[in-house]
Amino acid sequence: MEKIGFVDLVDFYVKAGDGGNGAATFRREKYVPFGGPDGGDGGDGGFVFLVADPTISTLYHMTEKHKYIAQNGENGRKKKQNGKNGEDLILRVPVGTLVKDYDTGEIIADLDEPGKYCCVARGGKGGRGNTHFKSSINQAPKLAERGVKGEERHIQLELKLLADAGLVGYPNVGKSSIISRISNSKPKIANYHFTTLIPNLGVVAVERAENSFVIADIPGLIKGASQGKGLGNVFLRHVERCSLIVHVVDIAGSEGRDPVQDYYDIRTELEYFSPELARKEEIVIGNKSDLLTQEQLSENIEQFKRATGKEVIPVSAVTGFGLDNLRYIIWDKIKESRKLLAEKIDVEKIDFVKPEPVKIALPDRVDIVVIKNENGEFEVKSNYITTYLEKYKKEAKYMLEDILEILEKNGLDDKLRKAGVKDGDTVWIEGVEFTFKE
Ligand code: GDP
Ligand code: MG
Repeated sequence: MEKIGFVDLVDFYVKAGDGGNGAATFRREKYVPFGGPDGGDGGDGGFVFLVADPTISTLYHMTEKHKYIAQNGENGRKKKQNGKNGEDLILRVPVGTLVKDYDTGEIIADLDEPGKYCCVARGGKGGRGNTHFKSSINQAPKLAERGVKGEERHIQLELKLLADAGLVGYPNVGKSSIISRISNSKPKIANYHFTTLIPNLGVVAVERAENSFVIADIPGLIKGASQGKGLGNVFLRHVERCSLIVHVVDIAGSEGRDPVQDYYDIRTELEYFSPELARKEEIVIGNKSDLLTQEQLSENIEQFKRATGKEVIPVSAVTGFGLDNLRYIIWDKIKESRKLLAEKIDVEKIDFVKPEPVKIALPDRVDIVVIKNENGEFEVKSNYITTYLEKYKKEAKYMLEDILEILEKNGLDDKLRKAGVKDGDTVWIEGVEFTFKE
């Protein structure tokens, strides 16, 4: 649409759940001295998803944690009891959030529609229990699979902020003061092309970080703005898509201001600029109430109502009077309009389709490399064996037997001799020391 935009940036880590380990257990019964394998499978680790939720409009709640972790899968247990899958972690973000890999800058997804979601970290596959490894030659397998580690990723979110509420009113009525008093934070702003034209923007959180909205101040709006006077026109574009107009008047009529006249002047400008904007829901707030006595204030509010038909909410940006209440009033209105959006898509009801969990595949062939190190010792390197150790678990002594058997079947001795090994030399395999015997 337009080039002008505020991009809010937030980054954090996500970690999917690890798979649970498979169990290597055996059936035990009173008169069966050696029952068969009965180790259950480990559950898969939980996945991490991001979903576009139409009821959220800022990334403020995503700044609360630095790392978001999904649940691990449970380990398998004896009696073929499988471990439960870890619960997925669903993180809600506003519609329009661009999801990137922080390290590579790669765009993972553009969550530009309500309910659109993406997986940012896949859970690890649960390991299989030893029941799966029974064969005609091995009736009592002590082998089981380990659960696979879940993915971990550094994520960056980019959101073009759209104001939920636009603050309009004559210069000096106190718009900037109000924004700075009611907002919790200023969004980080990036990629802004026209730096001089940044309206004052605030993120307001009401009770919880999820209950936050963006409020934008539209400075420079004066009589004649629609004919090009001042800069109000430019700024108005920022609130074209807001759901609420917060109209500020100086209820004290200080410095010769006339709240009723100002109200009509600004309304006229809004209508010129965009009839659609002018039709949006509006609340009127009467600032600078601290300059009046209680009686004068009531009288001015009454007078304003008689002239315009509008209720005025009295506040003071100086004393803070009425501001907390104002946050709730604005939030309630915004919540109402979001509810209408949420009716179309309920994030709770989405059935998240998962990609495959992370798996470890053994290489197709057994690779063996022998290196002689500076101490005159030999090191055996094998990608196959490293992966094998990652994938399977077994008691250490049995594991060692397995590895040696695999390596020997695939020509370990030949390779060692070719590398110059002699009787009595030291050989290292996966951190274990052996002495070579002819
Ligand atoms: P804006 O132009 O609408 O953004 O107005 P500002 O927030 O910049 O305020 C204009 C002037 O009014 C400043 O000098 C403020 O200190 C003053 N002001 C703002 N709010 C109040 C208020 O509630 N009471 C009083 N007495 N002065 C205020
Ligand atoms: Mg201002």
